[in-house]
Amino acid sequence: MAKHKIAVIGVGKIAVDQHLPVIDKSRDFEVAATVSGRGVQHRDLPVFKTAAELYAAMPEVKLVAICTPPGVRHAYVREAIDAGKHVLMEKPPTPTISELDDLVAYAKKKKRILFQTWHSRYNEAVDATRKILKKNGLRTARIDWRESVRKWHPGQDWVWEPGGFGVCDPGINALSIFTKVVPFPVFVEKAHLKFPANRQTPVDVEIVFKSAEAHQPQMSAGFNWLEESGEIWTIRFETLKGDELKLEKGGTVLRINGNVTIENPSEEYEQIYAHFAKLLRKGKSEVSDAPLRLVADAFLLGARENVEEFHW
Ligand code: NAP
Repeated sequence: MAKHKIAVIGVGKIAVDQHLPVIDKSRDFEVAATVSGRGVQHRDLPVFKTAAELYAAMPEVKLVAICTPPGVRHAYVREAIDAGKHVLMEKPPTPTISELDDLVAYAKKKKRILFQTWHSRYNEAVDATRKILKKNGLRTARIDWRESVRKWHPGQDWVWEPGGFGVCDPGINALSIFTKVVPFPVFVEKAHLKFPANRQTPVDVEIVFKSAEAHQPQMSAGFNWLEESGEIWTIRFETLKGDELKLEKGGTVLRINGNVTIENPSEEYEQIYAHFAKLLRKGKSEVSDAPLRLVADAFLLGARENVEEFHW
């Protein structure tokens, strides 16, 4: 079968690190063009300054991957749907829940496929954790998500602007795993957000979760963006049977009672594109809003503290 032609919109760090090379290797997709305000070209393929120019010039391209920051995503997705395209969106989807709800409804109305990616969910260790927690229940959960903003978002000022999510940009990856594996709905009980005095988004967040479960599982998360010792992307669970499940390295490793039981190289974006191909075959959209809701609730309920200024 011919490969699906897909255009990549917004050629920043994640498009270059993952989308473009992964699509190049894919058996389902091929890069047809890029849309880049700065004119970043992929190999010798066409590059357009705006999506409208792409849609006018290459009507045969039916799919787009929108890899911009979340703040502009709603407008880009609407424009793509209006042009008749199916859409893959990077995470976090949009800065507000209302915008995401609108995109889901609009894609449905226009009969276009909308796929919200949550890359951290695409790991065997995550799926295994989900099954075990479903069977054995959950007593405690602790998320520790710490990384260096200087390493992962070098010079990206948008992360510090309103709607840029701050440390919740990586933190939402942990919540995408958390909301996939925990076998009951979770809510934010309280949150504490530390903002650099010269910035608009938090650099450190602590969240306490609650649930409607009678046994009242203890669940919390800590995100920090100034960790220079290397990434700590860990979620530790204790089941009702007393076993410890530890998801490490962003969800690629599962340790049960200290023993590594699953350890895979990260192939999250390969899995994302394989899943997108499946959705296209089935004609189905897929959007999970649970991670965004938890982040929004943490901002709604969060106590604010001003801390030391952040400078690159
Ligand atoms: P980035 O390096 O800043 O790239 C985003 C690109 O989007 C820009 O280079 C620009 O590309 C385009 N763009 C369009 N409108 C923009 C605007 N108003 N402000 C800034 N850029 C704009 O960001 P990124 O790290 O690739 O992140 C993009 C998305 O991927 C975010 O939602 C992020 O959470 C997600 N993500 C990032 C990582 C990571 O490791 N950094 C990992 C997973 C997911 P052109 O100049 O080519 O138009």
